[in-house]
Amino acid sequence: MSNLVLEKYSIGVGDRFAHQAKAQLAACLRAAERGVAVVPVWNKSNREHKIVGSEPSSVRAAADRAVRELAWKRPYHVDADHINLGTVERFLEPSDFFTLDVAETIGRAPEAGTAEEFVGRHPELVGRIVIAGIPEPFQVSREQALGAAYKYLRAVREAGEIYRHIAGRKGAGTFITEVSMDETDSPQTPPELLLILAAIADEKIPIQTIAPKFTGRFNKGVDYVGNVEQFEKEFSEDLAVIAHAVPHYGLPQNLKLSVHSGSDKFSIYAAIRRSVRRFNAGVHVKTAGTTWLEELIGLAEAGPQGLALAKEVYARAYEHLDELCAPYAAVIDIDPRRLPAPEEVSRWTAEQYTGAVRHDQKNPLFNPSVRQLLHVGYKVAAGMGERYTGMLEACESDIARNVTTNLWERHLEPLFVRA
Ligand SMILES: [Zn+2]
Repeated sequence: MSNLVLEKYSIGVGDRFAHQAKAQLAACLRAAERGVAVVPVWNKSNREHKIVGSEPSSVRAAADRAVRELAWKRPYHVDADHINLGTVERFLEPSDFFTLDVAETIGRAPEAGTAEEFVGRHPELVGRIVIAGIPEPFQVSREQALGAAYKYLRAVREAGEIYRHIAGRKGAGTFITEVSMDETDSPQTPPELLLILAAIADEKIPIQTIAPKFTGRFNKGVDYVGNVEQFEKEFSEDLAVIAHAVPHYGLPQNLKLSVHSGSDKFSIYAAIRRSVRRFNAGVHVKTAGTTWLEELIGLAEAGPQGLALAKEVYARAYEHLDELCAPYAAVIDIDPRRLPAPEEVSRWTAEQYTGAVRHDQKNPLFNPSVRQLLHVGYKVAAGMGERYTGMLEACESDIARNVTTNLWERHLEPLFVRA
């Protein structure tokens, strides 16, 4: 039996209401026309499903339909994003990609003696570590290696448990496994990443993508905030560590980095593109969150009814600011003083609305606080039920144009295609 293997370049797409799969796939077709294969992976986290009240099977249905309608011949996948043992059940059938989220277990002490035993078994993780592509060797003391083992071993063991549970139900080799450690406090250092990969190999998890936490802020729906040079250095060091670990530990050849909250991080796309090419590496970039904002932009452009609904979403989101922001507190930076009152927004033209929301940092109307509030405001639209989804259907062409353009021009082209 041949294993399911994720292609070199892949893009995490998806949308809150399962209406934009075709428009997203159209962006991958544009990349294909330019000779670059970027495989779509539709993902939706358990958190999103809970907020919207949707089922993972709807993601599979939307993906299959889009692939059929556009006659997409390359692979595509459906990602059970950020699942754990408690939440994986309803994702098992429709998904063929699983993002095992063990960030919460990072820092919990492993069983007595296991860290010591692990470091004893891995003398290569202590002392002077030379990694091709990183000029300066790392110097790791036994205490530092033990500290990292204490911090990460239990999380990796848990990933192993989740992996084996899924493999027991679906069959090994029939799905792609990602391990995510991004929703945690501090970025992993290269020696820590190496230790994590050694532990993952010990657990026999056939990991194809890993999502570490990177330096800087990856706020939802807006640009990267941080030191781009430092990011590029760390990102390429992570690539070097992966290239080193794959043959050392017998990990899958195609193991690559996964960038979460990867949409709209325009200022680091050149750094990602350069680093990935330098190492001849692959990369997975999750961008699902950006599409819902294009729905609002498309609605606003489609005519008075669409614009009115888009304004209503803002007004409700404004009223429920605290409640909507709470689940995303760590990944948004909204300045409440920059949020216009709903009465003011109600007088906006379509151009003012789209100017505030569309991610064009050169436009003086662009308002990142409005954009982020709307980003987390999809619960409002979910509450509107068919009134919202019906309008999506009525305004389909305006929305699809914006969804495809955003994904192609602002994401796929600079990440994968640009010279
Ligand atoms: Zn994530």
